Amino acid sequence: MKIKIDLHNHSCLSPCGSDELTPALLAIEALEQNIDIIALTDHNCSKNLKPFKEACELCNILGLFGIEINTIEDVHVLSIFNNIESAIEFGSLIEALLPNIDNNPKLLGNQNIVNLDGEIIGIYKKSLITTCGISLEDVVNETLSRDGLVIPAHIDRSVNSILANLGFLPDLPYSALEAIHPDKIKDTKGLTVLTGSDAHYFENIGDRSCFLEVPELSYEGLKHGLLEGKVSYI
Ligand SMILES: [Zn+2]
Ligand SMILES: [Zn+2]
Repeated sequence: MKIKIDLHNHSCLSPCGSDELTPALLAIEALEQNIDIIALTDHNCSKNLKPFKEACELCNILGLFGIEINTIEDVHVLSIFNNIESAIEFGSLIEALLPNIDNNPKLLGNQNIVNLDGEIIGIYKKSLITTCGISLEDVVNETLSRDGLVIPAHIDRSVNSILANLGFLPDLPYSALEAIHPDKIKDTKGLTVLTGSDAHYFENIGDRSCFLEVPELSYEGLKHGLLEGKVSYI
C-alpha cells in the first residue's frame, strides 16, 4: 500500500516555530490532509511530545515522536521513535547536553510547552537553537539502540546540513535521508531520500510530505518501506 508521510515538523516549542502551531493542531491538520504518518520533531527538545501523542490518538492517526538534534558538528538530524518513552528519555539526554544559554524570546522567539488544549503550561528556558554536545555518530548509535529512525535533515540545505557542514555523507547506518530537492541528490548511498515539510507555521504543514510504499500502516511497515525505497514526491 502507498502511504503519505511527513516526518519533519515543529511546534510552538521551537523558538523559530509559530506560537499558534500547537502539537494538537499539527495532528488535526495531518488528518485533514490525509497524511498517514506524521512526526513532531522540535529542535533539541521532547517537551511537547505528550500532547502530540494525545492528539494523534484522538485523531486516530499514526504519530511518531521525534527530536531534531543539532549535533556538535552543527548538523541537523532527525531522531524519531515509535515509543514516546524512548523519545522523552533520549530527549532528556539531549536537553541535558544543551549549553547553559538562556533563550532570548524577543530575539529568537518563544519556547512554549503546551498541553492538549494548547494552553501554555511551561516555558523552556535554555536556548534550543544551538548545538548540543553530541556527535553525529553518537546520535546515530543512540537512536538506533532505542529502535528509532535516524535521518539526516535537509541534507541539501546551505546551513545546518551534513553536506553543507561536512562536505560529505559520513558512512553511518542512517535509516533514510531527507532533502528539500530529493531528485537532485546525486549520491544517496543506496538510502531512501524522503522529503519533509519542516513546518514551522500552520500553513506549511504537508508542504513537502511524500508517498512511500509499505506492507502495512505501522511503524514496522514504515521501517520496511524505508528499506525498500519505493518513494514518490508531491
Ligand atoms: Zn533543521
Ligand atoms: Zn526542522
